[in-house]
Amino acid sequence: MKGHTSIEPRFVKSVPATLEEGVAYVSMEYASVIHLCCCGCGNEVVTPLSPTDWQLYFDGDSITLYPSIGNWGFDCRSHYWIRGNRIEHAPQWTDQEIDEGRAYDRWLKKQYDPSKRSTSKSRKVSKPFQIEDKIKEHESLWEKTAKKLKGFFKCLL
Ligand SMILES: [Zn+2]
Repeated sequence: MKGHTSIEPRFVKSVPATLEEGVAYVSMEYASVIHLCCCGCGNEVVTPLSPTDWQLYFDGDSITLYPSIGNWGFDCRSHYWIRGNRIEHAPQWTDQEIDEGRAYDRWLKKQYDPSKRSTSKSRKVSKPFQIEDKIKEHESLWEKTAKKLKGFFKCLL
């Protein structure tokens, strides 16, 4: 399999027209990171930084992106973590796992939606059982994620 095992951060104001492989272009202005897919397929991967998208950790030398990057939209469907400038290839997700991940993403974004937060009065309209269902859905997804993380950390040891 083509691809690389490390990535180097480059802090930029604007992203250049041609991207280099193995470089993560970090734009604080646009709060996003862009890099070429680490499998070597040449697709551009944009990871927006926000509380509900990706979080970037920079220790002065290397970067870590959380959570993992799943390129389900590309043919390669590659899935990897960027941790301390290293590319940790992760197992590909099944279609079901991708759907669940997307559902969780939508759920998470809803919780963070500021327009919904400020209108707390209108919350009374939502039926309690719907909220409960969502919490259950969230919990089971979180359990699965936790299991995955455990497996992931095990294979690092
Ligand atoms: Zn790829």
